Amino acid sequence: MRRMVPGKQSKRSEKPVPTRAEPFGEGGMFRVFMDRSPLLACIKDRDAVIRYANSAWAQRLGKPLHELLGRSEYELFSHEQVERFLRSDTRVFDSGETIELTEQGRIIDGEQNWWHVIKFPIDDENGERLLGMLALDVTDRVRVQTALAASEAHVKAVLDTAVDAIITIDTAGVVRSFNLAAARMFGYTAEEVVGNNVNMLMPEPYKSEHDSYVRNYLATGVMKIIGIGREVSARRKDRSEFPIDLAVSEVVGGGEHEFTGVIKDLTEKKRTQAELQEREAEARYHREQLTHLTRISTLGEMAAGIAHEINQPLTAISTYAQACQRLLVNADTDIALLTDTLDKIARQAQRGGDIIRRVRDMASHTHTQTHRSTGEINAIVWECVEMSAYEARVKGIEIALHLQENLPVIPIDAVQIQQVVLNLLRNSMDALQNQPGERRVDIRTDLDDEALCVSVADNGPGVNEAAAQHLFEHFFTTKRSGMGIGLSMSKSIIDAHGGGLRYEPGTQGAAFKFTLPLRKADD
Ligand code: ADP
Repeated sequence: MRRMVPGKQSKRSEKPVPTRAEPFGEGGMFRVFMDRSPLLACIKDRDAVIRYANSAWAQRLGKPLHELLGRSEYELFSHEQVERFLRSDTRVFDSGETIELTEQGRIIDGEQNWWHVIKFPIDDENGERLLGMLALDVTDRVRVQTALAASEAHVKAVLDTAVDAIITIDTAGVVRSFNLAAARMFGYTAEEVVGNNVNMLMPEPYKSEHDSYVRNYLATGVMKIIGIGREVSARRKDRSEFPIDLAVSEVVGGGEHEFTGVIKDLTEKKRTQAELQEREAEARYHREQLTHLTRISTLGEMAAGIAHEINQPLTAISTYAQACQRLLVNADTDIALLTDTLDKIARQAQRGGDIIRRVRDMASHTHTQTHRSTGEINAIVWECVEMSAYEARVKGIEIALHLQENLPVIPIDAVQIQQVVLNLLRNSMDALQNQPGERRVDIRTDLDDEALCVSVADNGPGVNEAAAQHLFEHFFTTKRSGMGIGLSMSKSIIDAHGGGLRYEPGTQGAAFKFTLPLRKADD
């Protein structure tokens, strides 16, 4: 023992200082120190023979100390294990260096433990090189570390299978983790990003401002983005920018803040949205063109009716005018009678003017106009009935209205909805043309929880099952001069309003019903 630790003699102290012989001798303080030490200590020679061991070591080996001294390690450990010890021992013996390592050791028939070992050379007075060894049982620590590594690997595996990019940063904005989805999204490997400032993934102005966002948040606690998904721009390795949805959450553990960003790439969504908008615009354009065309064709078909309607007030005007002439040549004419007749002329002229205004209104809506205005549905129905009144009279059709009062006024394109009602009404009147007996169309408006409902029902022949499958297809018609676009166009108008148009077979005749939601889905 003496050769290991040289004693120190204090020069300043008056008190006698214990000399090497006392504390380091058999049973001295050094012995006590070594035997109380939780560290295992031993000294061995090149042949793996134990020259010294402390109590902790003996206890671990389960043998009395005196049995260990002078024994070879080959008697205590498996052959293979001693060979492993010797590999590092030889380095100490040959080079004289001190080495430190963590290794596994199993005492014969004992348990397998992990040891943190320090091996160092001891050259004794006789010039023999021995090896001193201190060992600390670190089994528990290694177990915890292994479990931690396993759980970290598990977390990484979970993060790497996530579809969204997940990036964690510390308060300095330095990236701590970068999952596989992030690597795919940004074109960087995790190694290229971890340890660097996260602003490398951002274009300006976010890039310059990001550090101050984090600082401000930590100083004020006011979160600009934390927790709330937000659309921002990100930058790939190839410097291209792309839109992302970013949701940030904060993790505080052991007084340390960490931020986790979950990122969704919005490129595809944006592209689809733009395509959808384009398609919607195209569909709207076609719908408006069709509406216009059908209005013109409806007008053409209604020309005879219109002419007749205008003829009525004109005939009346002419009759009243002749009456006025007669009244004027008669000297006794009562002025009041004359005024009354002139009033009638004015009223008929007004009626004629109204008809012309309606026709002009209808024709003047060009296909480029889309009116999203508020429309009162009952007023729209009334106008349609008025426009069809003559045709109904001629065909002997009764149009009965069941209009719910006080319906809410909702945003609709009144001209288009009018076109739908007109189409349904004209189809019903067409269907009733050869109907024997009573010919009748019932138009209803009412309200359910979420929508206005309009139905047009007739007591005509109805639609047979085969035709019912194709009613809303373009160019489906059973009429000789039909165009087959009325119902398909009506359906697309109602769809564009967020509602629905469907055929409802009744016990007699046909009924078409459409709904207009009080609120559009995207409102
Ligand atoms: P069109 O009136 O030019 O034929 P539509 O698209 O308006 O075009 O109608 C398509 C077809 O639906 C009609 O040809 C007819 O067969 C059927 N149809 C529509 N409404 C009725 C109805 N009220 N009663 C019977 N059949 C109808």
